[in-house]
Amino acid sequence: MLRTLTRCSTRLPRFSVPPPRNYLFRPIFTKGIFSGNDEPAAAAPEPPRAPSPSTKIEKLLLDSIKATGPLPFSTYMQMCLSHPTHGYYTNPEHEVFGRQGDFITSPEISQVFGELLAVWLISQWMDKGLPPIRLVELGPGRGTLMEDVLRVFAQLDAVKSHLTQVHLVETSLTMRALQQERLAPRSTAMGFRLDWYDSIYDIKDSPDEYTMLIAHEFFDALPIHLLQKSQQGWHEVLVASQEYAAQQQANSTSTSTTPKYPFHRVLTPTPTPISSILGSSSPRFQTIPEGGQLEVSPFAFRMARQVGFLLSQNRVGGAGLIIDYGGDNCFGDSFRAFKDHKLADVFEQPGECDLTANVDFAYLKESMADLVTPHGPLPQGEFLESMGLGIRLK
Ligand code: SAH
Repeated sequence: MLRTLTRCSTRLPRFSVPPPRNYLFRPIFTKGIFSGNDEPAAAAPEPPRAPSPSTKIEKLLLDSIKATGPLPFSTYMQMCLSHPTHGYYTNPEHEVFGRQGDFITSPEISQVFGELLAVWLISQWMDKGLPPIRLVELGPGRGTLMEDVLRVFAQLDAVKSHLTQVHLVETSLTMRALQQERLAPRSTAMGFRLDWYDSIYDIKDSPDEYTMLIAHEFFDALPIHLLQKSQQGWHEVLVASQEYAAQQQANSTSTSTTPKYPFHRVLTPTPTPISSILGSSSPRFQTIPEGGQLEVSPFAFRMARQVGFLLSQNRVGGAGLIIDYGGDNCFGDSFRAFKDHKLADVFEQPGECDLTANVDFAYLKESMADLVTPHGPLPQGEFLESMGLGIRLK
């Protein structure tokens, strides 16, 4: 069984996300892979000199664009968040969560959140006749949610004695160190194995164990591709450098402006293999009109499918809860950045801001529908109320 929740997160801005920029709809390239128009009649003026990069990630991205051309938004997002040393989640200098950081998540606000999730997991497990348990979390952050869940498990002898392993899927070594500090004492006190994995695919089948899985504010951090529909089909919106864009420009009018950030959105002139495949990866995407945009994450699709496998490929089954903000639909312009608890431009200080995109829960459900029974999404408040939030707070 799998339930999904829409998240009522403190990371959500109180105002709406700005609409896509107009220049997206006006590809400005005249040659190279974005060819389509004639060569410029007159020689273009010198492109503006790029200012020195604001961050190490910005430099890496600009170098990469210089070497091989514009990048998909997925690569941009992955580099910014998960570069092994300078990424947002991997750089030990980043505070990330809490008042000192850039955003606060529900488990960091109140332990009640994790406790109620634990109640739900236990209720699902009890229906299966109390088999041994393994507990999996995707992207555990500081380990706060897992600690809150384990506190409840520790108080119930029947649950505690059945918990054999806790698996944490975490790519950031910095986050792993925080999780270790927080959860190792629990592992010793309660007697379960505690293991880390780079990828959900590394978690092995365990036929006799009931799998409990949680993922809180994890899927929104997975890279998205940004597509745009035309009469020809789905094109991909890519990240180019201002310098690259200026060099390719037929019309020199905008080369004199000093852009705020060194990146520029560009559109592939024709559908590409990847944009065509992703654009047809759900029948729902067919209804998007020409000119419409689509954020789509093949990483989220694959990850969710693997969640389906983990919950179904054993004799006793399992239950999972994916908590994120998003909806039962796709989104076209939800990609955004947060810095110091405020909405920022996605091109601002790459690697220093949190990047996030709404989760298309319908897409996650489509990925696993032949493996498990997905439910939801439902609003977070509704779920917590049904788990006894009102009574717990009295
Ligand atoms: N669940 C926590 C943290 C959310 S932030 C909370 O709600 O407070 C996202 C977490 O996922 C971080 O720990 C980050 O390092 C991790 N993460 C991001 N991308 C990942 C990936 N592809 N695989 C594994 N972990 C990832």
